[in-house]
Order: sequence, then structure tokens, then C-alpha cells
Amino acid sequence: MQQANASPEELREYAERSNQEKLSISLRMLDRYMAYTPRKGDRQDPRPTQSPGGLPRSNRSLRSDDENAIVEVLDQITLFVVTGRPGEVVSAVFTDFSQAQVRLSANGVPSSAQRQHTEAFFTLLRATRRENVVENRVRLRKMIYTFCAQTIKVRMWKIWKSLYGDRDTMKELEQAIENLEKEDETPVSESVVPGYQNLGLVYSNINISDLLPSQLVRQMVGDLYTQAGKWKEVNNIIVPDDDEIQRTCLLAHILGVSRVMISQHISIRKLVSRLMKLGRFWHGILSLMDWAIQCHEERKSIQYSWIPEGTQSHKRMRAFKLGTRPEVVVEYLANSRSPNVPLNDIDWKVLKAIFHGWNSGELVHPVLHCEVAIIMAYLDHDKQKMPRIITCNKRSCFTCQKWIDLFNQIRRTRWSTLGSHMKYYMQWQFPGTVVANPIFDEVDEALLKLVEDEAFNYLVRGKITQDLPAMQSDDDASLPSGSPKTDIAFSIAP
Ligand SMILES: [Zn+2]
Repeated sequence: MQQANASPEELREYAERSNQEKLSISLRMLDRYMAYTPRKGDRQDPRPTQSPGGLPRSNRSLRSDDENAIVEVLDQITLFVVTGRPGEVVSAVFTDFSQAQVRLSANGVPSSAQRQHTEAFFTLLRATRRENVVENRVRLRKMIYTFCAQTIKVRMWKIWKSLYGDRDTMKELEQAIENLEKEDETPVSESVVPGYQNLGLVYSNINISDLLPSQLVRQMVGDLYTQAGKWKEVNNIIVPDDDEIQRTCLLAHILGVSRVMISQHISIRKLVSRLMKLGRFWHGILSLMDWAIQCHEERKSIQYSWIPEGTQSHKRMRAFKLGTRPEVVVEYLANSRSPNVPLNDIDWKVLKAIFHGWNSGELVHPVLHCEVAIIMAYLDHDKQKMPRIITCNKRSCFTCQKWIDLFNQIRRTRWSTLGSHMKYYMQWQFPGTVVANPIFDEVDEALLKLVEDEAFNYLVRGKITQDLPAMQSDDDASLPSGSPKTDIAFSIAP
């Protein structure tokens, strides 16, 4: 018997909803699907699994060395102008080929504290010279450690989780150090522990150059383990003072890049990615100072501006309710594809479990994502003089990534971001709802089809027919508001 779930009115109502509404609903369903844990007895689900080690999909291999240098600076800038509160995302591009002028774009509108901090941050960079680099580095450090304390806290928490929440990590590290001991013959060198000379800041009473690599790594691992043990108090991470954070971030950076950490083991790979993320608060400050000095010496003036500068993008779209049941959408998708999928072939029991607690009254507040806002700002620019690489304080979402791919195909442009964590956010806003333009209409239309296909593949056909990207979970500090994981970002499981 054909199972009837949706009434004809419900189906008609759904069919008549706007593209933005359809997109948001499909994204919400996909998001729920990814959050669902199959129960015993459920039919084996064909959904994508998390990528090994939780490593982000990166576009690094597609970039030239010059482009990597651009990325390094921009990436740091975006990290340092966000506080890490949920939903806060900032993107950046260089607007000129001299790489001294930066354009920033925020999801929504930058807060006044963020504008203030950004102004102070760039003022300091602009005033940095070889003669004052030491004191400016201290000033920049204090500024960033204060403004970005929340991000630092989340990153420390992830490291704590690796060291104390995953039994394998220390076991695997011990094994790796023992392997290193076997080949230890000469004192520590740059090839085994790059940047080890900087550790003087952490180990002022040890002569590091006399140590064997395994001895140094054992010392670093032990110290990090002991330090991390002191970070956690009840369900919170206590961020230490300025000097201590500096030592922690430095240790994280050096350990993260040391040879002993090159491993196929998932626990170690996770730890490395977490160490490197915290390490950027040490290493990134240095690279920004270098960039600032270089700009000054090449007589380039460091400038920045926010996109949008006051017009269209402030026009927020009105919120709307999901206003439908997922069963209706499933049936709509099943009917609208050719060949139709017989409704009684669909595993409704599993779908019910996936959408348990679905709230049709849930409000969607569409927000234009910052990467897309940058591309929109360059729509009429000469393609030859356009920037290409957009960095972001976190990886792009599924929808941004796909929209940019489609835009590039249709416009023959080469925009690229640093990769995607492939998450689905229902608040993602179509550019065509912000600015009327046939190009956006075309890209938006293609994107809706792609997202509906994705929903169809996972939720209707129940099998994967194309190579779908893996989900990334070990994500950055901030999660967008409305994401079910927002509230648990800090709850520490017993
Ligand atoms: Zn996005």
C-alpha cells in the first residue's frame, strides 16, 4: 500500500513557497539528518561519515606558494578580528596586488566592539617598524589575547579533550616518542622539531640544544599534559594570564609541527590539528608583524575596509517559520524527481526518528554569509584585477562552498576559499534576495536544485549516487546560532 503522509493542500502549499524558504527547509532537514545517530535495528544508513582525524578539507594543494603567503596573512587577520562568540564569522581578501589593502566582510553586521578592536589592530600594524617590533608585539599580543579569549578558551578545551578525554592519545604519543628514541643520535635539530630555538621562552633553565629530540619532545608532551590538567575547573576552562598563554600557544605550535606528531593515528592527528589551531595565537602574531614591517619597508600603506559599507547588505530579510512537516518535503521531493520514488519504498520509521521533535514553528533568520558578500561586492570588477582567494576565520559551510563553485562555473571566475567543513545551515541567505541580478538568480536556482538533490539522495532515495563529501566535526571555536551544537560547545561530558 502506498503510504500517504502529506495532504494535497500541504503539498501544494509547499510547492508554492519561495526558493529561499525551500532552501532553508531542505538545509534544516539535512542538518537534522547529520545530527541523527542511527539506533540499533535501523536500516544501515548510507550517510557520509566523518573524515579521518576530523581534518578539514583544505584547498592548500590547489594553491601556489605566493598564494599560500597571501593566505597566511589574511587567515591570521580573520582569526584575530573575531571574539569567538557563536555565529561570528569574518572573511577577508586583499583588494590590491600589493597585498596591503584588506577588505573584511562579516556574517551580518560587525559589532561596534569588533569595529573598535579592528581599528586598533590595524593602527598598531600600520605603526610597526623594525625598531619597535618588540614592544608592538607585546601590545598586539595583549590586544589579541583579550579580544580573542573565547576562541583561545575553546581551543584549549579541545586540547584538554584530546589529552584527557581520549585514552589513545597519550598511549600513541608514548609509542611515537619511543620510536624516536630508537633513531636518536644527534641533538635536536630543525628537521625534527622546527622552531625549537624559540622554546627558550618556555624553558629558560634548560639548554635545549643539548637535548636529544626524544628528550625534548617528552618534556614538551609532559609539560603540556600537566598544564592542561590545570586548565579545567568544573565545566570550564580557565584561561591563564598573558605570559602563560604565550608559553602555552608556543608549546602547542612547536609540538604541533614536530616530526614525532606525523602519524596516521586518528587521536594524534586530531591533537595535531588542535595544537596548530592554538599555536596560531603565537605563530600568527609573528607573521603579522613581519608582514607589517615588510609593507612599511616597501612603502605600502596598510588599509582595511568593511564590506558592506552601509547599503544593501544591511537590509536583513524578514524571518519566516519552517512552517511545514518534513514528511511533506520528502513526498514533494519523491514526486518531483524522475523516475518517481514509490512512497512505500521509503523507510518512514527511520525518517520519523530523524525528524523527531521537528518544530514547524521554528524561525529562520536568513543571513548573507561573508564569503558570498565579498564575491557580490566584486561582481562588476574586471576579472583580471579581481582578488581570488577569500580567507575566513572558519571553513566555509556546505552552501557557501557549492554556491561559489556554481558561481565560478557560470561566471568563469576563480574564487576560492580555504575549504569547507560541509555543514548545513538553514539561515544561509540567497544573494538574489539581497540584490536583484539575473546572475544571482541563475546561481541561486542551480544551488536550490543541488541542495534538493542532496536532500533527495539522503532522505528519499536513501542511497548515495554521487561522491559526497565527508562531514567535518572537529570545528573552529564558533558555531552558528541555531546550530543544535551551540549550547553544548562547552559542556564537558562526564
Ligand atoms: Zn557559509
